[in-house]
Amino acid sequence: MIDFAIVGAGISGLSSAWFLRQQGFSVRVFEASDQVGGAICSSEQDGFLIEGGPNSTLENTNALGELVRGVGLEGGLLVANPEADRRYILKQRRLMQMPVTALAFLQTPLFSARGKLRLLAEPFIGRAPAEESIADFVRRRLGQEFLDWAIDPFVSGVYAGDPEKLSVRFATRKIYALEAQYRSLFVGALFRLLTGGRSGPAPSGRMISFTAGMEALPKAVASRLGDAVQVGKGVAALNRQQEGWSLELAGDGDPVSARRVVLALPAHRASQLMKSVSAPLAEALSAIEYPPIASVALGFERHQVGHPLDGFGFLVPGREGMKTLGTLFSSTLFPGRAPQDHVLLTSFIGGARNPGVPEMDERELVAQVLEEIRPILDIQGDPVLVRVQRWRHAIPQYKLGYGELLGRIRRILDAQEGLYARANWLDGISLSDCVRNGREFAHAMKQEHSPAELDMTQ
Ligand SMILES: Cc1cc2nc3c(=O)[nH]c(=O)nc-3n(C[C@H](O)[C@H](O)[C@H](O)COP(=O)(O)OP(=O)(O)OC[C@H]3O[C@@H](n4cnc5c(N)ncnc54)[C@H](O)[C@@H]3O)c2cc1C
Repeated sequence: MIDFAIVGAGISGLSSAWFLRQQGFSVRVFEASDQVGGAICSSEQDGFLIEGGPNSTLENTNALGELVRGVGLEGGLLVANPEADRRYILKQRRLMQMPVTALAFLQTPLFSARGKLRLLAEPFIGRAPAEESIADFVRRRLGQEFLDWAIDPFVSGVYAGDPEKLSVRFATRKIYALEAQYRSLFVGALFRLLTGGRSGPAPSGRMISFTAGMEALPKAVASRLGDAVQVGKGVAALNRQQEGWSLELAGDGDPVSARRVVLALPAHRASQLMKSVSAPLAEALSAIEYPPIASVALGFERHQVGHPLDGFGFLVPGREGMKTLGTLFSSTLFPGRAPQDHVLLTSFIGGARNPGVPEMDERELVAQVLEEIRPILDIQGDPVLVRVQRWRHAIPQYKLGYGELLGRIRRILDAQEGLYARANWLDGISLSDCVRNGREFAHAMKQEHSPAELDMTQ
């Protein structure tokens, strides 16, 4: 009997499998679709390298470097162009640079003099007695302007979410932690965080990808795991056995027995699987919401775009009333993503602000994005490349009450012996978070059960 069956070959499942194997456990990963990576998907078209999901990730945990080295992908690592440190925010349809120094902050037209003065009150504001939304937290500490023109677009960029609904403690843990950590230095530390800088001790704080795109990572992990990863093998049902679990696979095939099972699935998919195991668990998982997003990649000849594209891209505050959430200057972020004398832009549209939008037909979606970004970036003519990727369930929303909901989920899971979950609806949504969580999980398992002990039960 294998030690761990992992359901789902996204980065959560693959990194859990990799680190569990490093700890000496036997693993098998079952993936429903015909490829590994889940939300991570890169593709090439006409000389452009397009990301349908994550475009980069912040190397803010040691686990990511360990995984990259472990699977021999160091040579393919790409660090973002330093120009990408420049980030723009749209205000009154003009791009304004997010300030990174105190002087730039004093000079920026992004905030009014009154908004800037309001920040001076910040060190004198105490902690709230109860869980707050991101919006309430920021309004209380930093004022409405800071919420509208700095935090709201940041939340859209990361979660495609609504700051009035997300929990500051769970959705923006680092911002929440700054309150206790930095006190009077809170504002400076917050700006560093928003602009992708380091907020505390972290390995490198580099924004990274890979020469062959983000997909190179899950592919390399899967290739090193070899036969242990099986694609096109969705898990249709889980049944408790006298010892461990039996997994029924979709289509043909004998059930597989495993001592322990890890659900590395989006919450709604885990909920379906849990219906026959625990109705309360299935119900709790189904309460985790995911807004839809579409990622729209547009390629142009360089001369068609008037803007210098000298940065990471721009984010759109909700107050601008646009359906596009933001646009990455993908070929600036990682040069080589577009053919010579061409540029690649990746826009995200929809999210909690405009949930119906990703349902639009592809031509309408592209037309909507183009209509909105054309005047901002001074774009002439039609794109030479168009690629749309829709995500019906994009990113789990860590809403107010998330602590209570997760507590309930954890209690039910704890009562199901040998059943675990590792996915982006637990402890962080970024790719780096998922890798770190996979590593922590494997280490915790090693502490709890030595592989030798498990082998003796075979
Ligand atoms: C559009 C978009 C942009 C993003 N941008 C960034 C970014 O720039 N930087 C960053 O760090 N993060 C980003 N993220 C977040 C990050 O990519 C995800 O949180 C992370 O990849 C999720 O990994 P996961 O393994 O938890 O889930 P998933 O990637 O969803 O993987 C789950 C896997 O389970 C499989 N599955 C489902 N049901 C079954 C079943 N019954 N049996 C077997 N397999 C099953 C699925 O097919 C899938 O492969 C982005 C996400 C999206 C959607």
